This record gives sequence, structure tokens and C-alpha cells, in this order.
Amino acid sequence: MSDLKGRCLCGGVTVTAKGKFTEADACHCKMCRRQNGGGAFYAGHFEGGVNFEGPGLVWYSSSDYAERGFCEICGSTISWRMNAMPDQASVSLGLFDEAPGQISSRIFTDEAGEYEQLPQDVPHKTGAQVIAEFMAKQENN
Ligand SMILES: [Zn+2]
Ligand SMILES: [Zn+2]
Repeated sequence: MSDLKGRCLCGGVTVTAKGKFTEADACHCKMCRRQNGGGAFYAGHFEGGVNFEGPGLVWYSSSDYAERGFCEICGSTISWRMNAMPDQASVSLGLFDEAPGQISSRIFTDEAGEYEQLPQDVPHKTGAQVIAEFMAKQENN
């Protein structure tokens, strides 16, 4: 499978997604909302991870466990990654001309803005559900 290339609005950041698309979630948490000016962050994952390049790329430490990549020239949202798992960075699906796949869930839906009604296209999960699932996965590893 060939790598999938994407870029931010101005081209100051390019991304290369490696290998198979595995999954994606739309995150409606307060931090994603604020960073994206209101909407969700469409976080895609790939089997081989994602490479980030370009002069615009900046990583902002948004919490004590994760950071957010964005383009400092045009402001595009690029990535969210956990400090402990940088090789499993998510990448914004909006950066690609062709969608590699569909989202499988909407997460942190309890924090979504009251100004929008979320589509019932895929299962919804609250923040507490997402954290509980993540903790269970960690215990099984
Ligand atoms: Zn840019
Ligand atoms: Zn979020």
C-alpha cells in the first residue's frame, strides 16, 4: 500500500501517512472544539504511523499527557499525540484530498457545542466511556 500524502491549507506542513488506515474518530471535546474554532477534530490512525514535515509545524503541549500539532502559518490542525506514544500520532483527516476511510465513532460527545446537533451516523461515546475503554486496553497490554 502506497503512502498517503496530505498538507495544511498553506502547504507549510506536509504529512505522510504510512501503511493501512486503521481507524478514525471525530473528537468533540472542549479542547478540540476550541482549537478547531467550533467543530470536531477528525483524528485518523495508520498502521505505520505518520511523518510530519515542513517549516510551519509547531507542537503545542495542551495537557500534561498530550500535545497538538498545528501550522503556525495558516493555523491548520495537524495532529494530536500522547507524549508516551508519539509513534501512534493521529492525523487530521481534512489534510488529505481523498479520504482514507470513514470515522467509526464520535467521542467526547458530552462536551460537544450546544450550537450543533451531532449526526447519528456512527456510535457516540462520552468522555468517561472513552477514558474507561482506554484504561481497559492499557490493562490488557
Ligand atoms: Zn499551513
Ligand atoms: Zn478532543
